[in-house]
Amino acid sequence: MPPEAAIKPVTVRCPFCEQLNRVDLTKLAQGPKCGGCARPLHLDRPLKATGADFDQTIATSAVPIVVDFYADWCGPCRMMAPTLDQFAADRTGEVLVLKVDTDRDEALSGRFGIRGIPTLIAFRQGKEIGRHVGMANRSQLDQLLLA
Ligand SMILES: [Zn+2]
Repeated sequence: MPPEAAIKPVTVRCPFCEQLNRVDLTKLAQGPKCGGCARPLHLDRPLKATGADFDQTIATSAVPIVVDFYADWCGPCRMMAPTLDQFAADRTGEVLVLKVDTDRDEALSGRFGIRGIPTLIAFRQGKEIGRHVGMANRSQLDQLLLA
């Protein structure tokens, strides 16, 4: 089996310089760094995604993705943030957690029919596999990926 088959690539945007990076999740222990600014890429927390890179990230991810469609003014979104952070930390390398600002990316929110926030959508191999509208607790987050 070629070594290529064992890698688990994901494409993520650097929060500092915004460069897109392809990261191999099997090498997280080595501390992936951004190819643009060389700062560490932390995949143990939710990452912001925008309409510019969303499709590419969803389509190329080797692991399932959970997307939190949120807004800064949304109280339930803020209340849920620690749960989402913990979920991302516990499942680092198995799941990628993204956050989409629905005010900034209205077109993206419209495309996925987001009517209330927070809305959480799980994707596997580019396809939606689960959706939860409203605040989600930890077991609801885990269940999103069971489909
Ligand atoms: Zn960077």
